[in-house]
Parts: sequence; structure tokens; C-alpha cells
Amino acid sequence: MNRLLLLATGGTIAGCAENSATLNNYTAGVLGGDALLAAVPQLQGLAAISVEQIANVDSADLLFAHWRALVVRIRAAFAADPELAGVVITHGTNTLEETAWLLQLLIDDPRPVVLVGAMRPATALSADGPLNLLQAVQVASSPEARGQGVLVVMDGQIHSAQSVTKLATQGVGAFASPGRGPLGWVDDVGVHLPMASGSRQVPFAGLDLQEQWPQVPIVYGCVEPEPLLLNACLNAGVEGLVFTGTGAGQLSAAERSALEAWPGKRPLMLRANRCGSGPVHRDFEDERLGLLPAGSLNPQKARVLLLLAVLAGWDRDQLKALVTASP
Ligand code: ASP
Repeated sequence: MNRLLLLATGGTIAGCAENSATLNNYTAGVLGGDALLAAVPQLQGLAAISVEQIANVDSADLLFAHWRALVVRIRAAFAADPELAGVVITHGTNTLEETAWLLQLLIDDPRPVVLVGAMRPATALSADGPLNLLQAVQVASSPEARGQGVLVVMDGQIHSAQSVTKLATQGVGAFASPGRGPLGWVDDVGVHLPMASGSRQVPFAGLDLQEQWPQVPIVYGCVEPEPLLLNACLNAGVEGLVFTGTGAGQLSAAERSALEAWPGKRPLMLRANRCGSGPVHRDFEDERLGLLPAGSLNPQKARVLLLLAVLAGWDRDQLKALVTASP
């Protein structure tokens, strides 16, 4: 039987409400990983799973220290145990995509790392957590998932860390991969994934994460934006900054002028978009101001990339080589 490691971090999948009809008013991160496993006896026939609790929080309260602990633990587990088949992480859905993308950029191992959450608390009628967990374990122990990078399993769909996002505040089908669709599906017949496409790039595979992480704010574009937000970030000396531009990542003239007028060193900057789907392409005028395109990364994932780039001490040329090479 496959051996898996389950790392529990909290979220709605571990959440409890006062009664089974309550779907919105509950406390996330109450049950431990052991209780989540115990609720799905069918798992016993699927894999031998050891559990560790990394945190038990609503994922809005996740800290860089939790991210660091996850990365350190996963790297150590894979290094120490060649027989370990994969890792499953239970996680709140609100920031699940950021953790998935972080791990995709840092974990260099063909064995599956699968994140899973739930939209309904564990106490709800028709809670989605138990089936999602069963399917995440199915995926993590399957040969089909090997070499596919970090995966997210929700509502029978298998998504890649790069494309997946939470698109809805309610409903069990809240996750999607806009513009691309899910990588595959999982059901009682099996795990349906295309062949893995050979070796993947893990740009921060060798990066040792320090305790202190930089601040990388996200500035959001809108009609008549307030340049004081941008100026405050620049004055605070942030080392990285994400612009969520309108349309295909466009800045307003006011924001452009504020950047142009900034006399100091420019932080590493990425231009993402607020449309929810579609790429941001290169723009040579923006590049002159230090703004690089985030491609198809949404703003929160562009921020994760910038956090790691700053931690790794990258300069703008190193970041440019990465973002202009990826699709
Ligand atoms: N509040 C939850 C969280 O931890 C939401 C969820 O898990 O669905 O992100």
C-alpha cells in the first residue's frame, strides 16, 4: 500500500458550525488532521497515511512562517523517505492557490503534492470535505500524478497550481482554471490525467527560506486611482510590488507619472490584471519603468513569485528571464 504524508493546516475542511444546516457561520480550523482522516474510513484501503499538523487556522490567517514550515517539512520528508508516495495538504480555500503556487516554485520532486479544501464545514449536511479528501488521496497515490507538479483537487477536478483559482464565494464548484480548464478529473473509476510533460522548471528549488520575508504589496487599478497608495509603497522602500492593472494590465497616466517621478531605486515589479483570465504581455514603455509582465499569473500568484525572487536576491534581469520565458 502507498505511504502518504498528510499535512493539515486548517480551513473550512476542518471547520465546525453549531448545527448541520449552518453553512456560513462557522469556525474554520477546529478539527485536527486525524479527525479528518477518521471521517473517511474508505481511506484505509487506499493508502497508509501519517498526519502532521502544521497549523489549524482560517487560511486568511496563514503566515509566511507556515509557508516556510510546509516547504521545510515537504523537502525533508521527500529527502528522508524514497518510499513516500506523495504529500496531501488540507488547506482553507481562500488562499489555497497561493500556497499551491508557492510549493510549485520551491519543491523539486516528481512525487505528487496535492492540496485540498472544502467549501462547506465538516459539520454541514452534504459536507464536501470527506469526498474531496478521499479524491486528493486517490490522486496523490496514483502513478498518473507523478511529474505533474503541485496539484489542487476540488469537486472531482484536478487543477495545476499555476492555473487554479477560487472563483466563487459559495458552492462546492468554486475552483476553476480560467482559460485552460482543469488538468484532469478523479472519480471512482480512477485518476484521469494526461501524460506528464517531462521535466518541469522549479526556479527556486535550491532556495533556503529565511525567517524574515519581505513585504510585497498589491496595488489595484481602478478609475481615478489614488497615487498615494503607490507612493506610500515606494516611500516605505518595498522590495517588490504587484500592479493589478485594468484590462491587460494597464496603468493609469497618474500611476505612470508617480513611478516616472520616483527618484529612488525601483522595487521588482510585476504587472498583473484584474480580469481574472488572459495574459499580460510585454510592454517596452512599462519595462523602462521597471514593470515586467506577470503573464497569466493572477495578482496574488504574481506576489508569491515576487516574494521568492526578493528572497533569492534576484535582480530585474533574472526576473525578466523567467517571466518572459513562461507561457
Ligand atoms: N475560511 C476558509 C479558509 O480557511 C474558507 C475555506 O476554507 O473554504 O480559507
